[in-house]
Amino acid sequence: MDIIGLKDKNLYFIGGIVRDELLKRESIDIDLTYNGNAVEFAHSIKNAEILQINEPFGTVKIKLNNKEIDIASTRSEIYPKKGHLPIIKKIACSLKEDVMRRDFTINALAKSTLTGEIIDYTGGLEDLKNKKIRVLHNNSFIDDPTRILRALKFSVRFGFELDEHTKKLQNEYLKNINYDISYKRLQKELKETLTSWKAFERFVNEGIYKLVSPIDFKLPKFPIKNSKNWIVYLGLLPDISNIPLTKKEKKIVEEYNNLKNIKLDSDFEIYKSLSNISKESIIMYSTINPKIVERFNQIKEIKISLNGEDLQNFGIKPSEKYQQCFDFILKRKLKNPSLSKSEEISIAKEFFEI
Ligand code: ATP
Ligand code: MG
Repeated sequence: MDIIGLKDKNLYFIGGIVRDELLKRESIDIDLTYNGNAVEFAHSIKNAEILQINEPFGTVKIKLNNKEIDIASTRSEIYPKKGHLPIIKKIACSLKEDVMRRDFTINALAKSTLTGEIIDYTGGLEDLKNKKIRVLHNNSFIDDPTRILRALKFSVRFGFELDEHTKKLQNEYLKNINYDISYKRLQKELKETLTSWKAFERFVNEGIYKLVSPIDFKLPKFPIKNSKNWIVYLGLLPDISNIPLTKKEKKIVEEYNNLKNIKLDSDFEIYKSLSNISKESIIMYSTINPKIVERFNQIKEIKISLNGEDLQNFGIKPSEKYQQCFDFILKRKLKNPSLSKSEEISIAKEFFEI
């Protein structure tokens, strides 16, 4: 793992990257921790350009051999306000203390950049072998309930199971949730976790959704097959007002909720209601009424050829009657998609009685 071209007896790869290498998987980012003060260490590296220093956190970004590298100082943390960001207790603590603030044993492995030795203070190697997700202490979910989502994320991603005690701690927490938490942090993990129906199914069936809101919710009957977009899953819950959403995400959820409350009896109603809304809200609606979505997909390409200009050419003044006429033609065209333009014109004339 000589990806950074930097070797030091106090410098370790840590967390996800060590886990992923052992699992022979690609890692998204490289996490490095310096056993001591990373900022001082960075200043001592030959040919390194210091790009950014975050003194209170003890982190530093450097450029070395044309690569940007982030190095954190070992640090320990405490959670004075449960469910909110931790505060730093000590910078340049021991590697062991740094490891103990982490979420699961499989994410608490370190690897020396100098010798390649794996340092395993928590039994992460054994858990990797046995495909287990295990917290490091009994207060883990109380300190940071977003770890419940992280456990689900890693469990689905790697096909691992929660260790029994961890599962018990999760269930205990879910029976007694603290709703005074950082929803921004929760949102980040929701986004990364709700990327498949499989994850959503467990999110619902294990009651993890209660982290978002206590209102009861049952898994919809019909699954979503092909979406990695978290909002199509989360938006199915009855109340997500705690979770920060973008304008676009809000619109998707709103469209779905509107759709849920209307009755669609004819092709015309289906066409009109589903034509101008996002594909995401339609995906969401398919969990309630897949037949209607299937029908919409069969008819959505049908378009009438007649337009406003044609009507003006017949000497008809623009008014709200135009739209009524288009709808009148559309109703016929949905029954008979092969209608030609001249047939549409006849129908328009019939409509305007000319
Ligand atoms: P991914 O492949 O999704 O990036 P990762 O394990 O690298 O997985 P990150 O979110 O990038 O996860 O975090 C890096 C490391 O920081 C983790 O491996 C873990 O050791 C630690 N960590 C991240 N989030 C938490 C948390 N909520 N509580 C405790 N430790 C955490
Ligand atoms: Mg990572």
